[in-house]
Amino acid sequence: MKKNWEQSSENKTQKMGFLDQEFEHGGVILTTTEDLLNWARLSSLWPLGFGLACCAIEMMAAMASGYDLDRMGVFPRASPRQADVLIVSGTVTFKMADRVRRLYEQMPEPKYVISMGSCSNCGGPYWEHGYHVVKGVDRIIPVDVYVAGCPPRPEALIGGFIQLQEKIKQHTLVRPKAIENIIENHKIDKTS
Ligand code: SF4
Repeated sequence: MKKNWEQSSENKTQKMGFLDQEFEHGGVILTTTEDLLNWARLSSLWPLGFGLACCAIEMMAAMASGYDLDRMGVFPRASPRQADVLIVSGTVTFKMADRVRRLYEQMPEPKYVISMGSCSNCGGPYWEHGYHVVKGVDRIIPVDVYVAGCPPRPEALIGGFIQLQEKIKQHTLVRPKAIENIIENHKIDKTS
């Protein structure tokens, strides 16, 4: 029967990332290119330092020392060209929608969007009478993760990042079956 400390150290090792383990005598790590790329991407998410309204205050709190998103590899960047996550934190007015879209288009691929708060998710308190508010940022750019709340607390945003990391883990370099079928059909049409 295993001693308690042996059991707890085994459990600890299972929970840690593979590079957190000790390789005292050297060693070889076998993995797939997909897993390695996904692991690199999800471990260094760099959001654009950009806020729209009250939700942005909670986003700043999540980045500050109290919650310290740095420990998850999340560093805010000042330029869209160096960022791969856009956190839409606040009310998206029609006047601002064009700028949000432009910032998104200036970011290199692969890029992700977190919609933070009710305003960005669906128009929030302006849903019914806010003639000047876009009723959901997903009408102008694709959204990967929605964080609910008005405003969501920093913990909720951290939860959003964890959800995004889970999503990135599932990315694949293999073409989706539907696209493969279209390519195959196209090939057949060309030869006939
Ligand atoms: S969801 Fe609430 S807290 Fe966030 S920007 Fe809108 S009104 Fe402000």
